[in-house]
Order: sequence, then C-alpha cells, then structure tokens
Amino acid sequence: MKELKGKKIVIDPGHGGDYPGKEYEGREEEDVTLKMSKILEELLEAEGAKVYLTRTRDEDFGGTDADDDIMERVKYINKKYKGKGIDVLISIHVNTERAFNRIGAFYQEGAKASKTLAKNIAVNMGKKSFEDDLAILRETTVAGAKSLIEIARIDEEWLDDSDRLKDVAKEIALGLNDYFHDLRLGRV
Ligand SMILES: [Zn+2]
Repeated sequence: MKELKGKKIVIDPGHGGDYPGKEYEGREEEDVTLKMSKILEELLEAEGAKVYLTRTRDEDFGGTDADDDIMERVKYINKKYKGKGIDVLISIHVNTERAFNRIGAFYQEGAKASKTLAKNIAVNMGKKSFEDDLAILRETTVAGAKSLIEIARIDEEWLDDSDRLKDVAKEIALGLNDYFHDLRLGRV
C-alpha cells in the first residue's frame, strides 16, 4: 500500500462516553468503533501514514445530548487539526440491526473527492457507497476528503472477533490507498 506513506489521516471512532450509539445484547457501538479505529491506526501507521484519533478512550465531547455531542466533536476536530494538512477524515460507525443494506461508505452530497474516497473504500469492503447529509461530514473543515463508514449492523456477531475486524481494517486501508492513487493521477 505504497500510496499511504506520509499521508495524514484523522480517524474518528463514533460515539463514546454518555452517548454509546447503537446497542445490541450488550454489544455497544462506541466500543466496536474504538477497537476498529485502533486496529486501523496501527495498520495505517505501519504503512507510513500519520494517524490522529479523535478519541482514544471511552469519552464523549461534552455535548448536552447525542446530536449536540456530534457538534462538539466537529468543533474539536476543526480546532485540533486546523492547518495540519489533513488528507482524509474517516468516521467509524456501526449501524442499527434494522439498517438492512445501509452498510458501507457514506459521503456528503456534492463532495466530489469524498465521493471518490467513499467509492474506493466501499468497493474494497464489498459494500456500497451512499450519498447523504451528515453533520460530521458537512461541518468538518479540515480534510481534503471525508467518509463515514458503517462497517456492519450491530447485531452481527463477527464484530466481537478481532481477526475479522483486522480483515475489514485492511479493506478500508486498501480503499484509502486506491483513493490516493486516483488522486495522484487526477481521477477525482
Ligand atoms: Zn454511529
């Protein structure tokens, strides 16, 4: 994955603290997203990327409710990573057990580079990419391209298996690598 060397990537493990996200039989989204983000961080750094995690433990961003916490997270990201030359922002999530096929990589409507990013990630995951309007993508201002990834439904048991999480982290990393390849060739 030669394209990852020197790239600056923000990974945002969704939820945390007072706002655990989706829950299914004791499995909480905030835990899966953090575990996944740390695995992805290790993988990307091994390929020479510089990775920043928005949180490294079970904490929220001080919001008054779940939606407000996302806005506090946005503020944190925009302040913390401003001027750092961030190439990509990836927000990791797990969808509800009622999500049907809304699993894959999302991009903000009208965002061209982000669309290319999301497509490359989704293809490597064997999933779809989706256009949507999401605050974490719409309101953050620090990266050239951004994607929110719903890695699975919360009722999927493989989420407890670290080896399976590593497989998906590899697919995401390959998607990032393909995106940077496209970007270098002007295909965005
Ligand atoms: Zn979520």
